Amino acid sequence: MTGMKPKIICITGGKGGTGKTLCAVNIAVMFKNEGYKVLLIDGDVENPNSYLLLNGSLENKREVPFFMPKFNEDKCTRCGICAQNCINHALLYIDDSIPILMSSLCSGCKLCYKICPEKAIEADFKTLGWIYSNEIHGLTLYVGELKPSEARSAGIVEALLETLKDIIKNQPNKFDIVILDTAPGAHCDVELLIDIADVSIPITEPTKFGKLDLKRIIELINLLGKDCKVIINRSSLLGFKDQFIKELQEEDIEILGDIPLDADIVNSYCQGTPIMEKNSGYDIKGAGFLAFNNIFENLKKWLELKA
Ligand code: SF4
Ligand code: SF4
Repeated sequence: MTGMKPKIICITGGKGGTGKTLCAVNIAVMFKNEGYKVLLIDGDVENPNSYLLLNGSLENKREVPFFMPKFNEDKCTRCGICAQNCINHALLYIDDSIPILMSSLCSGCKLCYKICPEKAIEADFKTLGWIYSNEIHGLTLYVGELKPSEARSAGIVEALLETLKDIIKNQPNKFDIVILDTAPGAHCDVELLIDIADVSIPITEPTKFGKLDLKRIIELINLLGKDCKVIINRSSLLGFKDQFIKELQEEDIEILGDIPLDADIVNSYCQGTPIMEKNSGYDIKGAGFLAFNNIFENLKKWLELKA
């Protein structure tokens, strides 16, 4: 695949706990097994745990700074222009006084810093979170982590995407495949990752909750005009698989494959060894292994990839 931009695959899902990271990690491992150069990005920045499923650790910590305006009292003429133009209403201005920053409302857009006629606003920064990078089992892993007590998780996702865009621009052949693992839900962090991907794969489970949240995430994927196929995890749960598949098909929701409840998958999850890792010792004729293999073959056909 040299000379081409990497294929970007977004693993997502409207609901927490459906197995997004399990699928992201094993799909990344299957591409790596076939000789593809794979980058896995963990964008579930409030709960990043992909490295645990790879039995790895968080390395090469890099701070993600967040701009905050700092007022120079000597230079500020108390004109109020900055506060009047802050669309987030993060600056409280009372006549003839220095504006007061309400930091929880500040988006870090720097508009006040740019427009102050007296250059009375200085750039200050706080730590929003961190990005880690690591090489594990032949995969490159980037992990974003939001600092506890901070709320602007999208800032960490944006920093991950900037890193990815830099790699694609400056080292276009470095990776063949990029796997994005999103947070649960259909919010801004998830939207940013779906939007940059070529295809999206929501992971669901055969329950009413699973279906409701699946429909939300598919609505978002459709709004962004992206291709999507679904993986049904724990498909053998209480025997609802056939009914669930029928319901999805009736709503024209395409299915990439399904993964049954399987002891090897549970073991691999507990031990941090991906079931699809070469020589991991799991039963290659077992239901879990075969299910992931089937998904991988369907995925390659969908992406029109040949090993
Ligand atoms: S725009 Fe500049 S000078 Fe005017 S109130 Fe804001 S910081 Fe002070
Ligand atoms: S950085 Fe943007 S959001 Fe924050 S106070 Fe300045 S103008 Fe308002």
